[in-house]
Amino acid sequence: ESRVERVASLIRDVPDFPSPGIMFKDITPLLSNPIGFQAAITELVTSAPRPIDTVVGMEARGFIFAAPVALALGAGFVPVRKPGKLPGDTVSASYELEYGENTLSIHRDAVRPGARVMVVDDVLATGGTIGATAALVRGLGAVVAQVSVVMELSFLNGRDKLAELGIDNYSALV
Ligand code: 5GP
Repeated sequence: ESRVERVASLIRDVPDFPSPGIMFKDITPLLSNPIGFQAAITELVTSAPRPIDTVVGMEARGFIFAAPVALALGAGFVPVRKPGKLPGDTVSASYELEYGENTLSIHRDAVRPGARVMVVDDVLATGGTIGATAALVRGLGAVVAQVSVVMELSFLNGRDKLAELGIDNYSALV
């Protein structure tokens, strides 16, 4: 069994969560399996072009993967959070949802201009979350050198959205 096969086998389908008709990809069995979790981190680290200065992870599941990837790359970790959670001076970006919109924030001084940034999240769905995060990183004058996720929901075409945003270094493990 390859590392990627192991990762795929530990992601559980949960029907009708968080609402009827949605098939949720639950990564908690992957996290609780030490070999699977290590395999996911190893594969994410392998997907990164070097050097990476900063790994950005999004609240909340992105944090779990981004922080160990940052340590393995010798990079810093920077959180992207929902509004009102970060204590310092922040910049924000909003994106459309099917109903309404979401906003994400980052500390203004967290990423230096010109830094090579890797963005890590658990799941790519529509691409709204990663698109807004890329806008934050670019707004601070840094470069989105890599976007990597554990799993992609390919039927939502998030990959095309990232391509439209000029993100050409993208990889999904599963
Ligand atoms: P997007 O913004 O690409 O539409 O949605 C991706 C974001 O929503 C990610 O931050 C991810 O954590 C969360 N998400 C959406 N669908 C799922 C899912 O089925 N499973 C998990 N674990 N997260 C999801």
